[in-house]
Amino acid sequence: CGMVAIVGRPNVGKSTLLNKLLGQKVSITSKKPQTTRHRILGIHTDEAKQIVFIDTPGLHIEEKRAINRLMNRAAASSLADVSMVIFVVDGMNWTADDEMVLQKLQYRNDDRKIVLAINKVDNIKDKEALFPYLNELGQKFDFDEILPISASKGTNVQRILDMAQTSLPEAPFYFP
Ligand code: GDP
Repeated sequence: CGMVAIVGRPNVGKSTLLNKLLGQKVSITSKKPQTTRHRILGIHTDEAKQIVFIDTPGLHIEEKRAINRLMNRAAASSLADVSMVIFVVDGMNWTADDEMVLQKLQYRNDDRKIVLAINKVDNIKDKEALFPYLNELGQKFDFDEILPISASKGTNVQRILDMAQTSLPEAPFYFP
């Protein structure tokens, strides 16, 4: 179905990115719509397709306690329904926590795309210094795309939207 998950630690720029992704094309039924498995952030609609953006908060929880493992499993099953995961990190502030989530995202089915969105690149002065690092990440983890972005300036946001569109199934997804 036409669902895309936006995943990442607090403050990496997820809401900023969501607002840019939705642009003016926001159509939302209630303030905090929710299905049993997903918290819906917003819906992008054009002539052909709808993309439902969801969040998946449990992924960053350490699995030391049983309750955490449960929350984590809920997050994972929520991700089972999506056709694309946008994993957002702060290009200036990469942490071990990010890598932990990436490890979890590696257990995946093959028709789910994973895009690593390295945000806040507008803050990075020496952009070429980022290349070896991006290379290393690409070798360590299996991404469909590694995309430096600026959510606030809108850099490469259209590219994410295009990828989301092409990852959707052909038939339109009608939100009930
Ligand atoms: P969230 O907690 O992941 O939803 O993050 P927010 O969207 O609330 O953003 C956290 C902070 O990062 C805010 O102060 C944003 O203004 C800032 N921010 C988000 N995107 C960018 C970006 O592309 N560039 C810069 N320089 N700051 C950004």
